[in-house]
Amino acid sequence: MSHVLHRAARAKPPTAVRAQGLVIEDKEGRRYLDASGGAAVSCLGHGHPRVVEAVRHQAGTLAFAHTGFFTSEPAEQLADLLIGQAPAGIDQVYFTCGGSESVEAALKLARQYFVETGQPQRRHFIARRQSYHGNTLGALAVGGNMWRREPYAPLLMEAHHVAPCFAYRFKEEAESEEAYGARLADELEAKIRELGPETVAAFVAETVVGATAGAVPPVAGYFRRVREVCDRHGVLLILDEVMSGMGRTGTLHACEQEGIAPDIMTIAKGLGAGYQPIGAVLFSRRIMEALLAGSGAFMHGHTYNGHPVACAAGVAVLETLREENLLENVRAMGELMQSRLDARLGQNPHVGDIRGRGLFRAVELVADRESKACFDPALKLNARIKAEAMQRGLMVYPMGGTVDGRQGDHVLLAPPFIVGPSDVETIVERLGEAVEAAL
Ligand code: PLP
Repeated sequence: MSHVLHRAARAKPPTAVRAQGLVIEDKEGRRYLDASGGAAVSCLGHGHPRVVEAVRHQAGTLAFAHTGFFTSEPAEQLADLLIGQAPAGIDQVYFTCGGSESVEAALKLARQYFVETGQPQRRHFIARRQSYHGNTLGALAVGGNMWRREPYAPLLMEAHHVAPCFAYRFKEEAESEEAYGARLADELEAKIRELGPETVAAFVAETVVGATAGAVPPVAGYFRRVREVCDRHGVLLILDEVMSGMGRTGTLHACEQEGIAPDIMTIAKGLGAGYQPIGAVLFSRRIMEALLAGSGAFMHGHTYNGHPVACAAGVAVLETLREENLLENVRAMGELMQSRLDARLGQNPHVGDIRGRGLFRAVELVADRESKACFDPALKLNARIKAEAMQRGLMVYPMGGTVDGRQGDHVLLAPPFIVGPSDVETIVERLGEAVEAAL
């Protein structure tokens, strides 16, 4: 019996002992091709010498200096690199240790902005159903993953939810993408009006939805309309790019493809690429100016914010992305993966949709293709696919379809950005076999 509380409390998973490139090896010598980057984390693959050396060097030079006393060179350098490539208007960084922490900090930053600017009545957060923003209480409250929320519901702050932008499931057949995006933006505006625009702090959304719905990109124009609605009512736009950011969709930030900039953006996962736990909140000058003119401090903080070793890893990751021209590979291999998935699984009567952007792809499985009816969650199809894939030496990220009874099981693929064409072939073939064996 293990003393570790594992994710599945009754089962101890294999013990990972080493990893290199795309492959993780366990204690029994079994090798697993990492086609999910864990959960969209390992964007450079494993054992990248440049990041390993940066971590080693920083740990031996300055491992820790509390941010209540000092800043550090890696923190300053990483912030400069991030701001140099940030969406328009974004020019400040607050470091965290991961995605949920970034979302918590983003919610508090939005709230504090309104307190500092004499609008303390702005307290409402609006987010979307079929979303995931993390497992801490604030992040869970804005998240729309009912299964994760349910046990903690009495502890969660009030948050409001509108429809996600999920064309495969919710766009009417006769509706154009533009009309669908406009309908959703209208729904958001109606919710803001219902709550009272002067009471709404922020709208929170994943730019491309990750874990809960499976690599769901927005329809064209949706976020431009959302941006307009937020601006009309003085509501901040918080984009959660913890999973979809840091190059995963083919541009450094997924929102670049939407032609808009948020007021606040959360990143994590790919920032440390699994070499260190690190996240960040990127935010606008306007918010910084409010802090500077007001209390002069963000009333928040954790012991390990801006950890020098984590920031050094982040610097090495960003430099590697640029120098190895990896985003180009993300775009090319993403297109190849989509076409190989279409060819291998597109005719399967239980494959409802294959979608995504860059190296962020998902296959949605349905009991009936015509009606898009979901499998009974009791079948635990997602767990069976995961097990079948692991048996074939493949790591993918399947999730169950439990939200609103209107969302199928899906398998998320988020391989490292270093994959080549033959890796894509192997991933798709093993996934095809695993899905067929599980169905
Ligand atoms: N936000 C999004 C969009 C995520 O996908 C996740 C994790 O999957 C989180 C936040 C939470 O990140 P973490 O697990 O690092 O706390």
